[in-house]
Amino acid sequence: MRIRKLPENVIKLIAAGEVIDSFTAVVRELVENSLDAKADRIVISLYPDSWSIQVADNGEGIAEEDLPLTIQPHTTSKIFQAADLNNIHTLGFRGEALHSIAQFSTITIASRTKEGNGWAIKAEGGKIVQSYPHPMALGTIVTVNDLFANTPVRRQVNPPFKKQLKKIQMLLGEFALCHPHVTWQLLVNKRLVLAISGGDSPKKIFPQLVSSFKDSDLQFLEKIIKTPPENFSRLKLVAGLPDRLSRPRPDWVKIGINGRVVKCPELETAIYDSYHHTLERDRFPVAFVDLRIPPHLVDWNRHPAKAEIYLDNISFWQQIIQDSLAEIFRLTSNNISQRFFNRKLEDNILKVAENKVVYSLGEEGDFKPEEKKTKEDTKGLIKLKAVAQVRNTYIVAEYEEGIWLIEQHIAHERVLYEKLKENWEIVPLETPIILKDLQERQVEQLENIGLEVENFGTNLWAVRSIPKALLSRKDCVEALLELSQGGDLDDAIRAVACRTAIRNGQKLSLKQMQQLIDDWIKTKNPHTCPHGRPIYLPLEESSLFRYFRRHWVLGISHGITEKSPSNSKTGMRKQQSNLEA
Ligand code: ADP
Ligand code: MG
Repeated sequence: MRIRKLPENVIKLIAAGEVIDSFTAVVRELVENSLDAKADRIVISLYPDSWSIQVADNGEGIAEEDLPLTIQPHTTSKIFQAADLNNIHTLGFRGEALHSIAQFSTITIASRTKEGNGWAIKAEGGKIVQSYPHPMALGTIVTVNDLFANTPVRRQVNPPFKKQLKKIQMLLGEFALCHPHVTWQLLVNKRLVLAISGGDSPKKIFPQLVSSFKDSDLQFLEKIIKTPPENFSRLKLVAGLPDRLSRPRPDWVKIGINGRVVKCPELETAIYDSYHHTLERDRFPVAFVDLRIPPHLVDWNRHPAKAEIYLDNISFWQQIIQDSLAEIFRLTSNNISQRFFNRKLEDNILKVAENKVVYSLGEEGDFKPEEKKTKEDTKGLIKLKAVAQVRNTYIVAEYEEGIWLIEQHIAHERVLYEKLKENWEIVPLETPIILKDLQERQVEQLENIGLEVENFGTNLWAVRSIPKALLSRKDCVEALLELSQGGDLDDAIRAVACRTAIRNGQKLSLKQMQQLIDDWIKTKNPHTCPHGRPIYLPLEESSLFRYFRRHWVLGISHGITEKSPSNSKTGMRKQQSNLEA
């Protein structure tokens, strides 16, 4: 697409505002240009001492004749008329970034398109000082030197480089999540500080950004959404499993819309709500939503740096995100198979168990679990069969792909919590329960959660109604005292669920165990109890298979058959893996 100057009426419609105010802003604008040019390899080099930034890409390049236009104001190849503002498919569209950067620096833009051999221009303070042939590979290299040299105040107000580097790393990480096919390198003074290799999904990107994010602790979902009235959108969702992954800060819930991460508090809240009471106290989820929606539904003009947006029909999108998270949390065979292969626990078990010295176990990666279809119920949930109870605490359950241990108390707590949340009932008591020595705040607390409490004499109170779940219990007094200690209605529901759930140490019949499993597997959040503790430990058949070395070849592995001298090491391995016992 050729570069042109925007007509005056369009310029007036575009939100004006300074965007080139920092080192980071230059990186952001140059990287956005590379992404708009469909690059899948972007190398960013920073030299903070000389205020220099270079971004090199393998995108479509800029035609030789267009190079001088890039640094003119309001020149762009991305939109041409007012109507295009409702149909923006690129990250940039105002045609302002290179112009502004050129005003504050010495800029060199070298580029080669499919048709050309490569050309470069150099400009100082916005004036072109050189124009020359520059043979190079397809793509563009923008080099910005002496940034803000002519505006010392801007240098002074720029945050320290260390701080900006952190921001830049986060920015690139966010772009990488939105554009997972791109390979990135960030160098500072020629030293590599961030490398991200492109993959087919944002799930592949996450573990490259934070080393504690393991692929197997994340779940991925992608779907096409019919968007009223007659459009289609696409959602990609990567979410940490609540029993595996959480953060001490709310720093890894991100929303990407049409190619960039934006602030969209309404959608972030939808995610936090979905994780409500699935994580331990003071822990926060990890989730990334990438939405590609028809451009006319997004108003990028809310913010000059396009960091905030307005989204039409926000409750529609909130619901889509919450439904998608609910899908991810369900224990379906598809979710399970995504989750467990190569997971940490299995790897650790195998590390301990494998005796590397004595036996050759075949090429790494040779082993592939059998592709068996897990039996599912009508709702697609996996079928677990209770087979035993251990230490009157754990239910051993079997399913097509392995063995699970389920902690009976917390599984039941999850079941009761969800039931009580749906149907929290306060019922009157025939005989009131008398409590002694309550403080005023305790009485208030009981009233706040809907109980009827009356003064019954000096230091005595009569409680005349009670949560239905507690009605037939012997420990009502203790339960009421616990409820009087504080918290909101939800805390009260959690406390009642915990108190009324089957205790550990209680013997269960097979029928009771099966009932509990069937109820638990249908819950909305089967991974953790409402306090955030994990409910089950899966031992997959695939890891048991390796642990018990069922891939051994009888004879060779037992040292009975001698290794033939003509067998090379690799030949031998091949033979073993083809002849699995
Ligand atoms: P905008 O991105 O809003 O169009 P910019 O000032 O950032 O404005 O860029 C001006 C024009 O220069 C772009 O429209 C594009 O045609 C061209 N351009 C800039 N950077 C690149 C790049 N890395 N690869 C290809 N074309 C580029
Ligand atoms: Mg741009």
